Amino acid sequence: MEPLIGIGFWRSLLEPELPDPAWFIDAQWPQHERQMVLDYLLQGKPLCYWMGYSWCRFRCGTAAASMGAADLTDGTYCWPEGLAHYVHRHLVRLPESFVQYVLGQASFPTAATTAVPESCPVDMTWWQQQAGWNPKACSFPAETDEQAQRTIRAFEREMVLEPSMLTHAACKARTHLIKQWRAKNS
Ligand SMILES: [Zn+2]
Repeated sequence: MEPLIGIGFWRSLLEPELPDPAWFIDAQWPQHERQMVLDYLLQGKPLCYWMGYSWCRFRCGTAAASMGAADLTDGTYCWPEGLAHYVHRHLVRLPESFVQYVLGQASFPTAATTAVPESCPVDMTWWQQQAGWNPKACSFPAETDEQAQRTIRAFEREMVLEPSMLTHAACKARTHLIKQWRAKNS
């Protein structure tokens, strides 16, 4: 089974190796391209539903329910339901190779989505390498400051949560994110 290519999954203290949506803001992106990508994202077929809704990394106050709780697919890529919110509301522009791929589709490949089983793996390698266009920008690393503090305390006491969060790369990325977050808050 070919893994799906992950895109639009955002960084937090719990997943510090993912890109930050603030890196991708581009108000100059031509509106017709933005709209076509947005329409495409909204047609994604639900692959799986998570317990609980996602939260907006910009804390814009949008209702959690409108951020969605599903991962969507077109048979090639996999993105969270909430990605459309970032493209629409926060002027996020996605990497050029994805945009060109979307613009090159005659219509949404609905047939390709029917063959994808819920258990299909999602490969984040390409997505984790995406650096966006505003490398110093930073959104919020947790849903509330209190939650951020709690996670940071746990991390600093090495009480962290799951083994996957303790890999060297994840720890390094988390330490960097904490530093950025503190600099922003001071
Ligand atoms: Zn938002």
